[in-house]
Formats: sequence, structure tokens, C-alpha cells
Amino acid sequence: MRNESQTAITPTRAEDYPEWYQQAVKASDMAESSAVRGCMVIKPWGYALWENIVRNLDDMFKATGVKNAYFPLFIPLSFLEKEAEHVEGFAKECAVVSHHRLEKGPDGGLIPAGRLAEPLIVRPTSETIIGDSFSRWIGSYRDLPLLVNQWANVVRWEMRPRIFIRTSEFLWQEGHTVHTTKEEAILRTRMMLDVYARLAEEYLAMPVVKGTKSPAERFPGAVDTFCIEAMMQDKKALQAGTSHFLGQNFARASEIKFQSPEEKEEYAWTTSWGSSTRLIGGVIMTHGDDDGIILPPKVASAHVVLMPIFRKPEDREHVMTFTEGLAKELREQYYDHRRIEVEVDNREIGGARGWEWIKKGIPIRVEIGPRDIANNSVFVARRDKSHKDKVSIKRERFVAEIPNILNEIQQTLFDRALAFQKENTIAIDENKTFYEFFTPKDLEKPEIHGGFALSHWCGSENCEVKIKEDLGVTIRSIPIENEDEKGTCICCDQPSNQRVVFAKAY
Ligand SMILES: [Zn+2]
Repeated sequence: MRNESQTAITPTRAEDYPEWYQQAVKASDMAESSAVRGCMVIKPWGYALWENIVRNLDDMFKATGVKNAYFPLFIPLSFLEKEAEHVEGFAKECAVVSHHRLEKGPDGGLIPAGRLAEPLIVRPTSETIIGDSFSRWIGSYRDLPLLVNQWANVVRWEMRPRIFIRTSEFLWQEGHTVHTTKEEAILRTRMMLDVYARLAEEYLAMPVVKGTKSPAERFPGAVDTFCIEAMMQDKKALQAGTSHFLGQNFARASEIKFQSPEEKEEYAWTTSWGSSTRLIGGVIMTHGDDDGIILPPKVASAHVVLMPIFRKPEDREHVMTFTEGLAKELREQYYDHRRIEVEVDNREIGGARGWEWIKKGIPIRVEIGPRDIANNSVFVARRDKSHKDKVSIKRERFVAEIPNILNEIQQTLFDRALAFQKENTIAIDENKTFYEFFTPKDLEKPEIHGGFALSHWCGSENCEVKIKEDLGVTIRSIPIENEDEKGTCICCDQPSNQRVVFAKAY
């Protein structure tokens, strides 16, 4: 039997956050590790969440004029070599295809044969191969802007995998745009950052800080990288989306040129922007509690589960009739332009059934027994409240109110996460305080510590490196909504004009 203090997930977040994460993912039945180290299997409950993220994001992209296309999985080695910083940035994590055939070896096993004249790289990102197409698609300024997005998988070989957060293969989208002017390209970079921030805050209920990266943290080959950073419940930062202004670097590498109205040939200005299945990890670590994950209603894999209760075998028929009728009525309701998605779970497995749904993070659980039916009511529990907190609601009222209840849950999750982020974002001016802030009291088994430190930085990479080496802390972003403020660098005491966000990060 469970006692009152027990939680559905062991260990708790406070006891061991990384292990809590692994156990919460497992208990939710969203995904699992695969036979290939570093690669994950996304199970239906996790994939449904991803589909909801994709649909919302795709709608937002299209509303800004972006169109979808698809480019090859393989990139010729020579393409990657075209942009020097780019190849250097990705060289250490490339999967390389060197053969195209298998032959029977002397011992009967299969051996690779048919060596390729030029090795192919499994795309880690597609700037170079998409750039090759763009160079042929674009002739005149009249062809611009070109606004293209691709939904795909990419591979970045991962030595320390963590499901959804860092996997060798992951699902994502990458947008690539081409413009006639620098100003227009920067505007697009910012526009897409705003789309990511909106997805994170309005749909994932995950508050973010918008900013730019320091040169050391930029996308390889970019002139400027914009990002959204979210705070997880272990107070570490998660980069949840990036938008890059690529200047003319990739246009020169891939010969993306256009004829200007004056009939001069000019290099174009490009951008790229991406977000991935990592967002699912963000949702889990932003909202989950010691009983498992909690899904924000707007992207939840399903909204509500109906659990009929049969006290006696003869109850079964009329309880099921009531339940099926209720499911049908609920499915006719909408929340955020999406039909209410209802699960009916009539397994007779006792209390384990309710706990399974708690661990899956479904927003609303409903119990329906003969006594409730006699009252024409249902017994309702919300995932944002304690599992003991259940209320009886008249059937008609529940059906009418379900969009409002879901909206309340969505808002509660956001408010909670925002309060947590604010509570743990602290302006620090003293070097000693800064070091204490990021040093756990228990070095053997570090407790949850740190947060976002808003501190002055002189702009020197040396200071950045020193702080990273000493504390494992990096500059997550230079906030966009930053006010100029005179101060001295947290590391070297040299003058600084603004505060930046320092944090430990995923
Ligand atoms: Zn400094």
C-alpha cells in the first residue's frame, strides 16, 4: 500500500533530479531508449505531443509566408567543407556514409562494400545542401524573399545521450530564408525568434528569455544567433529554439546570388532557424512533479480520460453506456481550435489505473461510478492539483465547462513556471556571491542550486572561458530587453555596459 508521503516517481526531484527525469519519462510511456545507443523510440503518447507542437508551429510559420519543402538526408562531404566555421563546428559529431553495399564475408557475416567516391554526411543541419538548391532557384531580386521550412530528422553523434534532451538522432524543423537586404534578413531572424517564444509561452506554458548568444556560443558560421532560454526545475537553462542571422557567409559558400533592379549581381542575405523534440524534454522538466509529468492542455496528447467504475458485474452495461455517451458529447467540444480528445479506460485494474494517467500527465481525469450516474454527475480531478483533490460536477456542467477548465490548467502551469523563473533569477554583482551561487553545498551529490544570474560581463572571451572552467557556467544569452547599465565585469572588474544571463545549461 502507498503511504501518504509516497510519490509515484522515485526518486523525487529534490533527491536526484536527473534520475527523476529518466523515471518520469519511463512512467509516462512517452519514449524509450533503443537498441542503437543514443537514439530514442518515441512512443504514441510522446509522438501525439510532438504532433501537436508541429501543427501549432507549422501554422505560425505559414502565417508569416513560409512554405514547406524537403531536401536530402545525405550531404556530400565537399558541401560541408564550403563554410570553414560551419564544418569545424559540426565535424566532431558527424555520421558518415562511406559504402553503399553489403557483401558476404568469408565467415558468412556481412561486410560493407562498394566504397563511395565521395563520403556522404547524414545531415546534422542542412544549410549547405539547401543552399545548393537555392543557388539554382534564385536569379533575380524578384525571386526574393525565399521562405522555406523543412520538417525532418537530423543526426549529431552524441556521446552522453539523454532522452529528448540530447539524442544522436532527433526530429526537428529547420527554416531557411533568403533576402535581398541585410535589414530584411535580420527582421526575419527576429520574427522567427518571436514565433518560438510564442510557441513556448502560449502553448508549452514555458516562460522564456529572448536574447542573443555571445560569439563563443553562436551557431557555427552565423553572424548572430538569437535564442530562447527556459529555466528547468533544477534551475538549469534549456535552449529551446534558435534563429540565426547568417549574413552573406552561406550565400558566398553556396553562390546564392541575385540580379538587383540595377542589374548588378549581388550575394544574398540568409537566415536559418530551428527547434526540435528537445522541446518535449523542456515540457517535462518545466511542469513535472514528484508524481510524474504534467502536460499543458494546448499540446497534451489527449485532454481527458474517462474511467468507468463497476462495483458489480451488472453495473457494467449502464455505466459504459453513460461513459460512451459522455465521451461523444465531450468530443463535440473544442479547446483552442482542437476537438477535445478523450481516452476511455475501462480496464479493471483498481487504483493503478488512475495512477497510470497521473504519470502520463493527462490534464483531466474523470471517474464514473453507479452512484455518480444516479446523481447525473461525474467525479473530476485535475493534474495541476493534488491527486486527492477530486470534485463532483454535474454532467451537463462538466461538458460545458471543459474548455474553461483546460484553460485554467494551461494558465496555472504558466503562472507557476513564471513564478519559479522569477524567484530564481537574481542580479549578482559580487564575484564571491556569484561563485557561491553556482557551487552546490554537497559537492559529492550536488543538490539543486544556482539559477539565472544577471551579471555584468566585459565582452571578453577570456572571462567567459574562466567562468566555464571554474563553475561549468556559460552565458546563456544577452537579453534583448536589456537596459544599458554601467557596471563592472563579474569576472575581471573591467567596465561593462550591460548584464547578461549566466547559468548552467543542458
Ligand atoms: Zn571580464
